Amino acid sequence: MFNMPNGELIHTDVVVIGAGIAGINVAKIIKEFTEKEVWLLGSPYESQVAKAGYIVDSDDVSSQKVGQQLIKEMFEETKGLGIKTKTSLVTEIEPQGEKVLSKTKFQDFISDYIIIATGAKQMNSLIPGFDDLLHQGVSDCAVCDANLYKNKKVALFGNHEYSLQSLKFLLNVVPDVYLLWEGENLSTTELPLDKSKIYLGVKNLRIFGNEVVEEVKFESNKEQHSLKINGLFVESKPRSNSTIFQNLLEVTENGEIVTDQYFRTSAKNIYAIGDVTSKEKSVASVFNQLKSFKNLVKSKTIL
Ligand SMILES: Cc1cc2nc3c(=O)[nH]c(=O)nc-3n(C[C@H](O)[C@H](O)[C@H](O)COP(=O)(O)OP(=O)(O)OC[C@H]3O[C@@H](n4cnc5c(N)ncnc54)[C@H](O)[C@@H]3O)c2cc1C
Repeated sequence: MFNMPNGELIHTDVVVIGAGIAGINVAKIIKEFTEKEVWLLGSPYESQVAKAGYIVDSDDVSSQKVGQQLIKEMFEETKGLGIKTKTSLVTEIEPQGEKVLSKTKFQDFISDYIIIATGAKQMNSLIPGFDDLLHQGVSDCAVCDANLYKNKKVALFGNHEYSLQSLKFLLNVVPDVYLLWEGENLSTTELPLDKSKIYLGVKNLRIFGNEVVEEVKFESNKEQHSLKINGLFVESKPRSNSTIFQNLLEVTENGEIVTDQYFRTSAKNIYAIGDVTSKEKSVASVFNQLKSFKNLVKSKTIL
């Protein structure tokens, strides 16, 4: 074993961590209204929008394009603006006097400011069998993988409004779908799914299979059930992606980064925006935050 040497230490003005809609647009705003050099770190294709079908309830993005296309176009625009990008994940941040160090696997960045925009992600590893069979019949993105299951029997496990959007998207491609719904109640009137294929109050979901998914077992309405299926889409509610910052920053009991009205966190020169914070988690909420952020940068109140 040998240690991979780190690349050069990059000195810059601002590092934006996370390339979802919050991070990409924050980088654009800073570039547009300041002279600062900006590095945008992270992969847009790992963002929530990339995993969504058509975005609803937002006037800020087109509802005619799938999420992957939207985020691709937003990210492409950064290139013409002189924003520097790397798809590397940040593994740690550390204050260094007035500056802040961001570490990635191959390169470290030292900057005057950090903007955390690491969003939220599903925490599915708690479901027995999930990690073992991920990409072998288990998927965390119905929109991305639906086409692989066209003539198969599949189930979707979910517990929030966006799981239902994924279900609708899935049903356009795969006719044989069961819904395993964690909540006790669900208005099924708008769902194009026969009631016999819906299980409510699903608990203790377990995934079984030898190399590929063969069966799921779970409890629903106090009865044990099992389904022989070829694929399981797990679309549980995303939670703030803040693990690497929790030792340094104040977070809520749900792990959401606490910010004030100026997007400041509890540490100097570190800001946070989007789903990683305790604000509402939706595209409309992110765009509202971006409007305030833009006004603060434009008026030189922050950065
Ligand atoms: C399936 C689905 C459907 C949805 N549908 C809708 C909808 O119809 N309408 C609506 O309003 N909202 C919808 N949402 C919610 C909406 O997508 C989010 O609220 C919004 O996209 C959040 O944007 P964000 O940039 O804050 O976070 P994210 O999209 O989560 O982006 C964060 C980015 O940071 C990256 N990152 C994380 N950690 C690191 C690290 N350490 N280093 C570098 N990068 C990192 C991630 O990989 C990701 O690319 C949906 C969400 C999902 C999952």
